[in-house]
Amino acid sequence: MAVATSLKREACLIDGQWVTNGAWMDVDDPATGQVIGRVPMMGGPEAKSAIEAARSALPHWSALAAHERAALLRTFAHLMIDRADALARLLSAEQGKPHSEALGEIHYSASYLDWFSEEARRIYGEIVPGHQRDKRIFVLRQPIGVVAAITPWNFPAAMVTRKIGPALAVGCTIILKPAEQTPFTALAIGALAEEAGLPKGVLNIVTGDPVGIGATLTASPEVQKLSFTGSTATGAKLMAQCAPTIKKVSLELGGNAPFIVFGDADIEAAVQGAIASKFRNAGQTCICTNRLFIQREIYECFAARFTEATCSLVVAPASDPNSQIGPLIDQRAMAKVKAHIADAVSKGAFVATGGVGHAEGENFFTPTVLTHATADMCVMQEETFGPVAALASFDNEEDLIKTVNASPFGLAAYIYTRDVSRAWRVSEKLETGMVGINTGLISTEVAPFGGVKASGLGREGGRQGIDDYVETKYICLHLDPPSAS
Ligand code: NAD
Repeated sequence: MAVATSLKREACLIDGQWVTNGAWMDVDDPATGQVIGRVPMMGGPEAKSAIEAARSALPHWSALAAHERAALLRTFAHLMIDRADALARLLSAEQGKPHSEALGEIHYSASYLDWFSEEARRIYGEIVPGHQRDKRIFVLRQPIGVVAAITPWNFPAAMVTRKIGPALAVGCTIILKPAEQTPFTALAIGALAEEAGLPKGVLNIVTGDPVGIGATLTASPEVQKLSFTGSTATGAKLMAQCAPTIKKVSLELGGNAPFIVFGDADIEAAVQGAIASKFRNAGQTCICTNRLFIQREIYECFAARFTEATCSLVVAPASDPNSQIGPLIDQRAMAKVKAHIADAVSKGAFVATGGVGHAEGENFFTPTVLTHATADMCVMQEETFGPVAALASFDNEEDLIKTVNASPFGLAAYIYTRDVSRAWRVSEKLETGMVGINTGLISTEVAPFGGVKASGLGREGGRQGIDDYVETKYICLHLDPPSAS
């Protein structure tokens, strides 16, 4: 997909300068495999320069009044909306998702800047009744300091603004390392931040070697917090790397979302919800449905309707306005999808539709429905991260909850039922950070997004999204007795 936009930068942003270092890495269009540009292959030394820039920018940025930072963030959000079409085209070119989805992601991303511009104006402290008559206790919430943000390729814009939104709003400065597959969207967001008037050094963006950059960011005592979104394996490694400097860490990691349909559900609504939550971004979404549990009495009916709806999805590159399913990110993702299907079939699953690559290109996979899935299959245990839906049946609520909670992951879950009491009861018992009831789409800037168990630590969005970027300090004031005069 051709990309011609003034927002495309082939340089990193460090201390307000667009810089290169003479080493490069290519960025491909996953739909065609063609190189669409290159960005600097930076490493530890450049990450160190970015830390120094962020450190120098901190005193001024954190000392601004909250409403001054908020005004700048609102301008930044408006610029994203004004340039949404160009940003979405750039995003699709490096990530592959259909243009309509990319456009949706840009609006969603801007909403985080807008939301946090408001939230950060209301970071109230407290006055606590003193423990002695002559003591007064004040509790303040202050910016944590320099933040390192590491983001994945599946939502190249939203994962960035979900981190830089709250960090900037409360007065932190940032070093962002975007995924090597999708650096252009992050750099374009950096260009818009600059256009909005963000002072130099407040947001620094370094592309390149994840290991070298990651090691420098995590080892530095000048960095007070790491916010990471990506795989559980990388998150665990980075958390260990942060331990020696006792950094605050937040992790948004992998999921294994169950989609549960009870016998009394509106089947057509459940089919549509499952299609939306399973196939968005070709199934490469951390909260996307991974395993479907359908109550036995409606299993055949649901499976037939869901298979029919899956067959009607249009697989095409982002440049095709009818596209609903774009390419997978790369051949590694294709190999995982194929291996999960082969494993399921060898253990007794039935391929109701799909199961093979798609003629559009080598990274395209046909949307797939597997029926008769069982707990021992990889598709039920791990994120497939592709357009593959595995359907299993269940008999009763109690056994279902045990099966669902047996997963080490706990990000999102979806329940379809007309029984409100059951929906509430099951929601309370599921070991996940988020639950959708009679909806397959739950992401919003107003709610706290995040997981439990191996799916992560901390929340992004909502009122709670501020918490990871502020420190709590208490000040105890001793009052002298009144003077005699
Ligand atoms: P990944 O862990 O391979 O990469 C994520 C980021 O970490 C990239 O920027 C990458 O360059 C960087 N990275 C990799 N190794 C590193 C290292 N040793 N040191 C420092 N940085 C390193 O994950 P991925 O395959 O790009 O992303 C997909 C995963 O992200 C999935 O598991 C998905 O569920 C998860 N995800 C989670 C959420 C959420 O909010 N919970 C959102 C989106 C994606």
